[in-house]
Amino acid sequence: MMHSMDEIATPRRTKEIIHRHGFSFKKSLGQNFLIDQNILNKIVEAAGLDSSKGALEIGPGIGALTEKLAQQAAAVTAVEIDQRLIPILQEVLEPYPQVRIHHGDVLKTDLAALFKRDFADVSKVSVVANLPYYVTTPILMKLLEEKLPLENIVVMIQKEVAERMAASPGTKDYGSLSIAVQYYSVPELVCIVPKTVFIPQPNVESAVIRLTVREQPPVQVDDENFFFQVVHAAFAQRRKTISNNLKTRFFPKEGRERLEVLLGEAGIEPSRRGETLSLQEFATLSNVLLGAGLR
Ligand code: SAM
Repeated sequence: MMHSMDEIATPRRTKEIIHRHGFSFKKSLGQNFLIDQNILNKIVEAAGLDSSKGALEIGPGIGALTEKLAQQAAAVTAVEIDQRLIPILQEVLEPYPQVRIHHGDVLKTDLAALFKRDFADVSKVSVVANLPYYVTTPILMKLLEEKLPLENIVVMIQKEVAERMAASPGTKDYGSLSIAVQYYSVPELVCIVPKTVFIPQPNVESAVIRLTVREQPPVQVDDENFFFQVVHAAFAQRRKTISNNLKTRFFPKEGRERLEVLLGEAGIEPSRRGETLSLQEFATLSNVLLGAGLR
């Protein structure tokens, strides 16, 4: 088989591979491939991989990032949904025996089983990906909620979503996504990325974000499921006070008295808005509501 000596992600080689295989991009699968070495290097660097570690890539495309990961990590598993890309990946990644290509939808993949099979011999695992933007949140929530043994997650996502994930209380970007992500991890914006590093170029701006996965949540929550229900209720209507939003969800037929006593117990002024509450305040509030028998 012929291999040019170029890295996969040069614009010339990307075009050559795509052309030779008669590949056409599917917008519905979020196919925007990276063609910039600097960005690829930055993404891989941010994960802090070394020859004792493993990497899971979601959506390898034609393998540009996969190749960089293979040069750093002991084991790389790449999950790709598009069957048309599998023979291309097998061809371009042939020089890297430590890479395993898995054909499937990551949202339907048993990741715990995949980890047991592919990462039994590595010290730590990172998820590293240029994610398909149409499923960014479900993919990240699956990775975090399944409590996989991950060191960090370094991903290219839509800039606006990255800003929401990393937002602090009291800002316009802060919401239930910030709280969910920050409950499981410590997010940091690595860099903002121009559209010109992709083919085809996406319609939105992009950013690389690193989520350092926490060993323990930073707050004590008595029932995680209920905690997230309270968070969602608090943001149901952003312009409403916490008291109004909670009343609608938990006390639709009662007066306000009981709710205001419980908010007082949690140390929260009823006139505040959900977007001003810290993770700790949400934890205290959900524990108080749960203690009062709410569900
Ligand atoms: N990693 C490549 C790069 O950076 O050039 C491609 C990234 S592209 C933004 C997203 C990739 O995810 C595409 O290859 C697409 O086919 C794949 N993909 C989309 N939905 C997926 C899913 N549910 N599970 C696995 N892969 C998916």
